[in-house]
Amino acid sequence: MANVAFIGLGNMGGPMAANLVKAGHKVTAFDLVATSREQAKTDGAAIADSGAAAVKGAEVVITMLPAGKHVLGVWTDILPVMAKGTLIIDCSTIDVESAKQAHALAAKHGMASVDAPVSGGTGGAKGATLTFMCGGADKAFAAAKPVLENMGKKIVHCGAAGAGQAAKICNNMILGISMIAVGEAFALAEKLGLSHQALFDVASTSSGQCWSLTTYCPVPGPVPTSPANNDYKPGFATSLMLKDLTLAQDAARSAGAATPLGQHAQEIYKTFDATGHGGVDFSGIIQHVRDLAGK
Ligand code: NAD
Repeated sequence: MANVAFIGLGNMGGPMAANLVKAGHKVTAFDLVATSREQAKTDGAAIADSGAAAVKGAEVVITMLPAGKHVLGVWTDILPVMAKGTLIIDCSTIDVESAKQAHALAAKHGMASVDAPVSGGTGGAKGATLTFMCGGADKAFAAAKPVLENMGKKIVHCGAAGAGQAAKICNNMILGISMIAVGEAFALAEKLGLSHQALFDVASTSSGQCWSLTTYCPVPGPVPTSPANNDYKPGFATSLMLKDLTLAQDAARSAGAATPLGQHAQEIYKTFDATGHGGVDFSGIIQHVRDLAGK
């Protein structure tokens, strides 16, 4: 068991840190928000009064923060006070460029680093069933894997520095596009007089089959656990989907890749978000698609 510092105790980081405590690690935690620090204390972590204080004596440091600028800011503060050779893992979803900069910063200070964004949402964070997509050197990944296994059930080494973030945004671009496609198919079926259940029964066992249909079905009924049956409460909020589609577009621009449907999906979610739906589950996009017919 290791001395682990955990910085960023929000909706994801809080339960992830709690799972490390449950697994027997000695966790020292920090967040800017007092209520998050108190919750971590209740969960059994020791609380530090800054990021730099949290990492003193740590063998492994984990960050779970909103965006690239937060990660680079925190890493800039803590790397100089960490013991050389400490493993540092960022689990936030951030842009590929910032992830690569963070790795370079860690190398400059003599640390091993891994980018390890997650999929599985807050349910996966609580249940320790997250999927981790990792980027970094083989040795750093090998050291990170047993720690990540306390918070997730699938740990994938995707490649060199930044490859975890690349995998995350490519996956979520598929998800954002496919949810719009499934929403359009149900909206068309409604106009054609085809029932939701009939379309589901056919498409879920035919070539239209995909996660957006079979797990997060955007109409109530066919998949009882999908957010559509719970007034489109997230789940995975539209604002987070927009964030990931925007990261995908940033990456596509800087890498010179053409992603016409990714670009269109980003524009559609941007409109949905800007009309007050940022907190609605992203499968609620079906209502936006229906509304377009009236325009
Ligand atoms: P969150 O906003 O709930 O938590 C982020 C935490 O970071 C906050 O508690 C904030 O106070 C803290 N923080 C910010 N700057 C800090 C600093 N300088 N020092 C210490 N703490 C600081 O966000 P979240 O939902 O936990 O998501 C975290 C990351 O995981 C994001 O990058 C998000 O895109 C990604 N993610 C979220 C989900 C999800 O379903 N919520 C799923 C997959 C990935």
